[in-house]
Amino acid sequence: MTARVLSGKEVAAAVEAEVAARVAALAARGRGVGLATVLVGEDPASQVYVRGKHRAAARVGMQSFDHALPTGAPAGEVAALLDRLNADPAVDGILVQMPLPGGLDPLPLLERIDPAKDADGLHPMNLGRLVLGRPGLRPATPVGILRLLDFHGIATRGAFVVVVGRSFLVGRPLAILLGLKGRDATVALAHTATRDLAELTRQADILVVAAGRPGLIGAEHVRPGVTVIDVGTNRTAAGLVGDVDFAAVSAVAGAITPVPGGVGPLTIAGLLENTVMAAEQHAAA
Ligand code: NAP
Repeated sequence: MTARVLSGKEVAAAVEAEVAARVAALAARGRGVGLATVLVGEDPASQVYVRGKHRAAARVGMQSFDHALPTGAPAGEVAALLDRLNADPAVDGILVQMPLPGGLDPLPLLERIDPAKDADGLHPMNLGRLVLGRPGLRPATPVGILRLLDFHGIATRGAFVVVVGRSFLVGRPLAILLGLKGRDATVALAHTATRDLAELTRQADILVVAAGRPGLIGAEHVRPGVTVIDVGTNRTAAGLVGDVDFAAVSAVAGAITPVPGGVGPLTIAGLLENTVMAAEQHAAA
């Protein structure tokens, strides 16, 4: 079997077109939309991601504000910048690029962001709303994964979904979203203490991998026909690769996302969508 390749580009383009229309509708009322990014340190991959987010903001007609602080910037300086952005009426969405350099605890900084400007949907208030199934700004990558499944006609209702990786950015919120009424998946969340990963993942109807370990998932981890969503984005000597051995797994799976061009474009689209939603709510307030 050769797996169907689940591109994220077309879905992301559709989301961006819808966001652009909403930005234009606000502009027609004299209301601009602004996204601020905060990058701490000089990690080249993070710099590439942040540049990509500014380009995407420009594509949909948003203004964007780029804030970069050096490695070693104290938490107080980052917090003071977030306070200024919270108070700035030109800023509707704020994003702190993850991961932060060692020594900076991300959680107090995420809590510092005004929940109404939480472009990444990672503030405890928005994550709490997600757990309760109430509307709110949602984490962009998990929402993007659901959108990708919907676009390609892969149902989650009744499916057994194994999510590898339990970060607050991807795995944990995704597991909760999948289990909500309406999504109706049965979910297992795997991590480094999972006893027999391959034995678990071989039972999955849908396997989502967000571990940051190139080649973690091989042919022995999947059963024929499974849908594999590879969230991993790893910069290696061989270029950008996911967590899944694409060649080996696509010979067994029914469907698989590529890296790049799978989940990544949807993460950016989700960030833009959160920002325009925040702007609409600010405009209505
Ligand atoms: P993270 O915070 O480092 O978390 C990694 C998770 O994977 C942890 O829960 C860890 O388990 C688990 N894990 C690591 N090795 C494992 C193994 N051998 N077996 C089972 N579980 C293992 O990473 P993250 O921020 O979620 O990111 C994960 C990957 O997704 C990275 O490559 C990142 O670049 C990528 N990413 C991509 C997008 C996108 O838009 N495409 C967005 C976000 C992240 P423990 O908790 O036990 O340590």
